[in-house]
Amino acid sequence: MAPVNITIDGRKLQAQAGQTVYEAAAAAGIEIPILCHHPALPPEGACRVCVVEIEKQRNLQTACTYPVAEGMVISTRSPRVMEARKFALELIVSDHPLDCMTCEATGDCRLQDLAYEYQVRDDVFAGGRQHSWPIDDPNPFIQVDRNKCILCRRCVRACDYINGVEAISIVHRGFDATIAFGMDSTMEDSPCEFCGSCVEVCPVAALWPKQSIGKGRAYQLKQVETVCSYCGVGCKVILHVKDNEIVKVTGADGAANHGFTCVKGRFGYDYVNHADRLRKPLMRRYLVEGGAKPALHQPNNGNGRGEYSRAANPAAEWVEVSWEQALDTVATRLAQTKEAHGGDAFAALCSARCTNEENYLMMKLARQVMQTHNIDHCARL
Ligand code: SF4
Ligand code: SF4
Ligand code: SF4
Repeated sequence: MAPVNITIDGRKLQAQAGQTVYEAAAAAGIEIPILCHHPALPPEGACRVCVVEIEKQRNLQTACTYPVAEGMVISTRSPRVMEARKFALELIVSDHPLDCMTCEATGDCRLQDLAYEYQVRDDVFAGGRQHSWPIDDPNPFIQVDRNKCILCRRCVRACDYINGVEAISIVHRGFDATIAFGMDSTMEDSPCEFCGSCVEVCPVAALWPKQSIGKGRAYQLKQVETVCSYCGVGCKVILHVKDNEIVKVTGADGAANHGFTCVKGRFGYDYVNHADRLRKPLMRRYLVEGGAKPALHQPNNGNGRGEYSRAANPAAEWVEVSWEQALDTVATRLAQTKEAHGGDAFAALCSARCTNEENYLMMKLARQVMQTHNIDHCARL
């Protein structure tokens, strides 16, 4: 699209026709605060925190919805703008629990950050507060606290546009307005697929991952960017780690997922620290101590159909060994097999759960080391 010439805070810039004022400012490194807006979602213009002053416009305009036009002159921090933003935040805070001291979101809360930046006090509009919603939902993944909801509709839009499920809406009006799932039932009883996209975009603690509750403040968690190991899509995720334990997973802005994940990637991480996981390699005893490979044993179950197994033979028991010993044994055995029977005695099956680099290395092992083309991938099977 053709560029348009605009001025923001005295800086002359070129923006793309069709961009909003918020997008043009962000592209030029000029920060306009947002609360109901999320760059991955269609704009809503509901919270009025992103208002800016535009020459020849009588009213302040929401930067997240207003399109740029040739010759537009915009002020993002004029006294009128700052006063309007503060007023919008005071209204939001006037019906908010303000239990930041014990709230899970403290240190990772958009409303808290803006209240701090605009010096919003909680006593400006004294009056009723809507604090009577029961907290929680019977589902195993997401805690729902409607008392902290600021009705920004980010979750509604994420569920509609990112996941395409439309499980969330806003019901009732005025002071009683609140988020609802399905036909105003629980999240568990709604069409929700627990992708967690609504949690990802919620700017406060109204939707929060249950597994991370009480596990640490944002500043106590180390963030490690990685690739989800569940399938071949390759979603980029951030592991939030405390004391060498994953306490939360959030989406990262990768080419395959743009900050969002499915239910497995976001909530299915407790296996990583599970006590039953193998932590050291195991080898059959006869491989460690030498001796013949035990014969398969068929238990006599009366009908001759028992499963063959080596379990009854002590030589077949599993023994813990070091990685060096395990890898040495594998390398020696593969070399012996190749020498005795040729490379085609070897075949490799790769997995979509591995990274491209791991699959590439497996291909190198098959073709260059074992000298066979016997290699395939689960996606083709
Ligand atoms: S959601 Fe944010 S503003 Fe609200 S209590 Fe929690 S930390 Fe404070
Ligand atoms: S978890 Fe996903 S499917 Fe469920 S309500 Fe949230 S966005 Fe919609
Ligand atoms: S639950 Fe969170 S994302 Fe949804 S409307 Fe409330 S504050 Fe916004």
